Amino acid sequence: MLKIIGTRLNQGMRTTPWPKKPVTLAASYRGLPRLNDQCDAAIIGQCAEQCPQQAIDAAAKTIDLGRCVFCGDCAGDFVRFTNDFRLGCAARSDLITAGDLPDLASRAKEQWRKLFGRSLQIRQVSAGGCNACEADTNVLGTPFFDLSRFGIDFVASPRHADALHVTGPISKNMKSALLDTYAAMPEPKAVIAAGCCAISGGPFYGSEEIIGDLNSLIPVDLYIPGCPPHPMSTLHALVTFFKGRAER
Ligand code: SF4
Ligand code: SF4
Repeated sequence: MLKIIGTRLNQGMRTTPWPKKPVTLAASYRGLPRLNDQCDAAIIGQCAEQCPQQAIDAAAKTIDLGRCVFCGDCAGDFVRFTNDFRLGCAARSDLITAGDLPDLASRAKEQWRKLFGRSLQIRQVSAGGCNACEADTNVLGTPFFDLSRFGIDFVASPRHADALHVTGPISKNMKSALLDTYAAMPEPKAVIAAGCCAISGGPFYGSEEIIGDLNSLIPVDLYIPGCPPHPMSTLHALVTFFKGRAER
């Protein structure tokens, strides 16, 4: 027993210090893109053409983060990816960006902060996801991210849930299960679209087998872009939107 206690003391605190202290992700991580609006139009056009997601609007000089898979193919003179994982947005239109996103805390509904600020129970539904979004959601329960320290937990039953967290492009086979889950949740209920699949169909965009836009089925309150969203993006979005307390 003493050996175990000694080992734990040696290991120290393993939970991320965020949000008390800022965290820096690996240099290889691609977060919020910054766009160079002074870039040559031909280069911007080239970026738009080679984007596999048709996420770049060359004329408007914007990227749609709801469609982007963060593959990095456009990185260069026009697009520079930063380390900023704060990607959550409360409106679909906010995801079409030239490099800045609105402050998420200011978009949270006051009523939800009062209701869910101390306790938020989430039901997760994978509606045809590839399992990467799901895996990077799952790690939020590990000691490093320790989501429950914020009073946020994933629950097994929709009847116990305050929010619905949806991943995947919503295959037609999953549509009725998703709608049944939503219907079983008590009011008021929030809906979170996580990953570009749930936001826009992602890499499956255009397939006849998917719905591809969660908001066309049920009203989405919070969007978390990525493919998959980094766990820090999800942590930041949940804590900021429902508790209004994360600044970094
Ligand atoms: S990083 Fe996003 S915008 Fe750039 S090429 Fe890939 S999908 Fe398109
Ligand atoms: S958004 Fe990307 S990681 Fe998430 S389910 Fe779709 S393809 Fe997989």
